[in-house]
Amino acid sequence: MKKLLALFLAIPLLLSLASCGHRHTVENWHLNQYTHWHVCTECKKKTDEAPHEFRSNGICVVCNASVTENSGGGATVTVYDTDGKTKLKEYVFDDEGNMLDETVFNNSDNIT
Ligand SMILES: [Zn+2]
Ligand SMILES: [Zn+2]
Repeated sequence: MKKLLALFLAIPLLLSLASCGHRHTVENWHLNQYTHWHVCTECKKKTDEAPHEFRSNGICVVCNASVTENSGGGATVTVYDTDGKTKLKEYVFDDEGNMLDETVFNNSDNIT
């Protein structure tokens, strides 16, 4: 249900990008519990937005994030390094996908 809603939200965004005149310059993935996207560093437009595609281990193939629903509503999104084990960041979102909290991990804390 939530994924379906995110898909509907993504469609008009994708269509609006088709009319953009320049090639967007993008850096890291931005994300919430529903979708991931890039933000152009020049025009600040959202681009490449798409729903997460989770692998069998629950980590998105595109942005390396895993999503855990919070019992009190909203969700926690954990972003992993490309190894799928090292946690890079953790975000807490409300039901609308607004960020409530952000934690950046010191990579040296995760070496096991
Ligand atoms: Zn742009
Ligand atoms: Zn993703």
